[in-house]
Amino acid sequence: MKIMPNRLDRGFVQYQEEFENKAIEVLRSGWYVLGKEVSSFEQEFADYTGAKHCVGLGNGLDALWIAFRVLGIGKDDEVIVQGNTYIASVMGITINGATPVFVEPNIYRNIDVDKIEEKITEKTKAILVVHLYGQCSEMSTIMAIAKKHNLRVVEDCAQSHGAMENGKQCGTFGDIGCFSFYPSKNLGAFGDGGAITTNDDDLAKKVKIFRNYGSEERYYNMVVGTNSRLDEIQAGFLRVRLPHLGEVTKERHNICTRYLNELKNENIVLPEVCDGVTTVWHQFVIRVKNRQALIDYLNEREIVTIIHYPIPPHLAEAYKYLNIPKGSLPITEKYADEVLSLPLYNGMTEEELDYVINMINNWEVK
Ligand SMILES: *Cc1c(COP(=O)(O)O)cnc(C)c1O
Repeated sequence: MKIMPNRLDRGFVQYQEEFENKAIEVLRSGWYVLGKEVSSFEQEFADYTGAKHCVGLGNGLDALWIAFRVLGIGKDDEVIVQGNTYIASVMGITINGATPVFVEPNIYRNIDVDKIEEKITEKTKAILVVHLYGQCSEMSTIMAIAKKHNLRVVEDCAQSHGAMENGKQCGTFGDIGCFSFYPSKNLGAFGDGGAITTNDDDLAKKVKIFRNYGSEERYYNMVVGTNSRLDEIQAGFLRVRLPHLGEVTKERHNICTRYLNELKNENIVLPEVCDGVTTVWHQFVIRVKNRQALIDYLNEREIVTIIHYPIPPHLAEAYKYLNIPKGSLPITEKYADEVLSLPLYNGMTEEELDYVINMINNWEVK
């Protein structure tokens, strides 16, 4: 039995007929960019999250850098972000010329809220909160710190559609929430897609203008913007998937609950969920000291795993210029050496799950 880390085909067949009907509908409509699918999706996703506005964009990275751009955060500014994130979070900051200041993660793999204040300087303008692996960060504490120091808050919700703290959804706490609809995300399109959410009328308007060459009215360009539009066909697919997102998340919960209850191997550390928040289980990430040995053992048994993420952004070649030496973020670096994502996807069968659990439970460190 070959088991891949993810199976997007399984997620497609779950609602195949609806997706195929939507594709035909959009193809036949004769309207392919910024039409009724996008505006309907924006309304539906705003309603879903509880945000006042949603603006569809080309992808998650665009959502991040456009967020900082419309907030006016760039050169000479610092943005606080957790060290153990996907590099796109950091690029969202640096594309604008701002400097990322890394904070270590806690045991939940999100930003350690007790270590934020010591990193705030007179240059700090914002905190970028990443809800990593689907788990909502401790937003009320973070918002209190931001308020005290007069900082903006941007949320990277690329992995956390629907995750909450005390019943309030991520993407609605800070100034702007940034979402990705890349196919492997919990709310995935069949190509690239992204969006921002905000409760601020002015910011929503600015993003709308920015995504379309800086123009609200055709050929009247107010600012130097970009081209970052969500396609009609992708918005249509997202409208098919959004009403099923509750079921999609429930299924992931069931799989991960089995992992949590049935994985019994003293060599691995299981993920934990912080009190007061929920996770939508974008990934099920264990920690293991002899990681390569486990990867090899599982590969021999046709179970393929992946690492999110093997090189922390501060040690990436792209960020050499930041001059942050190895050893500066020991917890972040330890996580990069030890994390491993187990196979997790909608449509995963009981047999597949039994097999992965048994194989991991039988693994012995030699
Ligand atoms: C996927 C992802 C992004 C970027 O989204 P794209 O749509 O691929 O540009 C940003 N941040 C995090 C945490 C992600 O997982």
